[in-house]
Amino acid sequence: MSSLGEADRKRLLADSIAGKFPDARGRFGPFGGRYVPETLIPAIERLEAGLRTHLHASDFQRELADELQGWVGRPTALTHAKRLGARWGADVWLKREDLAHTGAHKINNAIGQALLARRLGARRVVAETGAGQHGVASAAACARVGLPCTVYMGEIDMERQAPNVGRMRLLGAEVVPVTEGDRTLRAAVDEALRDWVADPLGTYYLLGSAIGPHPYPYLVRELQTIIGREARAQLLERTGELPDALFACVGGGSNSIGLFHPFVADASVEIVGIEAGGRGPALGENSASLALGRPGVLQGAYSLLLQDPHGQIQETHSISAGLDYPGVGPEHALLQAAGRVRYEAASDDEALAAVLECCQSEGILPALESAHALAGARRWAATHPGKRILIGLSGRGDKDMPTLQRTLIAQLEAAGRRGAA
Ligand SMILES: *Cc1c(COP(=O)(O)O)cnc(C)c1O
Repeated sequence: MSSLGEADRKRLLADSIAGKFPDARGRFGPFGGRYVPETLIPAIERLEAGLRTHLHASDFQRELADELQGWVGRPTALTHAKRLGARWGADVWLKREDLAHTGAHKINNAIGQALLARRLGARRVVAETGAGQHGVASAAACARVGLPCTVYMGEIDMERQAPNVGRMRLLGAEVVPVTEGDRTLRAAVDEALRDWVADPLGTYYLLGSAIGPHPYPYLVRELQTIIGREARAQLLERTGELPDALFACVGGGSNSIGLFHPFVADASVEIVGIEAGGRGPALGENSASLALGRPGVLQGAYSLLLQDPHGQIQETHSISAGLDYPGVGPEHALLQAAGRVRYEAASDDEALAAVLECCQSEGILPALESAHALAGARRWAATHPGKRILIGLSGRGDKDMPTLQRTLIAQLEAAGRRGAA
């Protein structure tokens, strides 16, 4: 927000460090809030009251901790990436959310909200999904707690992500194709909201990232900070020190806020979020809402969005489906405006190169989303020799095999044929 004066910026920074956001109105400074139709207000207020009662209550936290340990597989490892570090001239540590059940950080949020839904007396859960990762996590979490689950998914995404549709069905979820609007994630969120309004008492809406109307950005952050709290304690135990810099990829912003939030008050730690730079900075070629967006309202919150000069939401592009979203969670817009977190973009090609480097240096196949964080960290290390870098590895790359086959693997095979000739 260029209109923000220096005094405003300093106040936002001090309040961010003091942990004052969201405020009582669900705002993160100028961002966030609750821009929803009148019909949704009772459902959202009921959710907010439920959070006040349960989220930080010791019996709920005990139940959640049990599931995180016994079912999700937490704590996830903190891996010292020694060969990657030697290549970059840095001390590199990876927080391994790829090792969490279902292969990414999304399960932390899904199981937390599914347990909450059961506490609130919901009879069924609805969720939206884009690439299908949140749909799979929701279906798994609902099976675990014994609640029926309906997942809305754009029909274009259902075609592109057929294996995840099958996974959701195996896990007992009903997958409903969305044929309205853009027939992708944005339309799926709208459809899930409509379903929720129809029966706000019996239905729980399990939202998948740190976006949407208050209290979702807050709720999702609280469920994902387990990433940063574990990583902070693990790194302190292993090295006795905090990292010099933190990196995570930013789609809607849930794995990144989960890693960043427990470090916001640590002034010595530089924090960098990496968005999808796609094919370049032109509108429609990327998903870099923080770097290139303008303020506006999307799906219930005021934040930064990729829109044309008339305020029309733009089509976005990223090689990684999980980063391909025209908006971003309001807390990231705040942290950028306050000057606490810097946001940069990594391109499709940089992400692909980072996948290969991570595979061959560390024996870890990262998700294409996570590879953006690796690419951003690598670039930073080149100008900051000898620093300790903590990177959030949000998920594993097995789901990306079709894309990797067409790109990296095809190149490796072509190089192999040239070598043999
Ligand atoms: C969904 C996803 C993301 C992006 O979502 P955030 O809410 O920004 O974390 C990143 N990485 C992986 C592996 C994902 O599945």
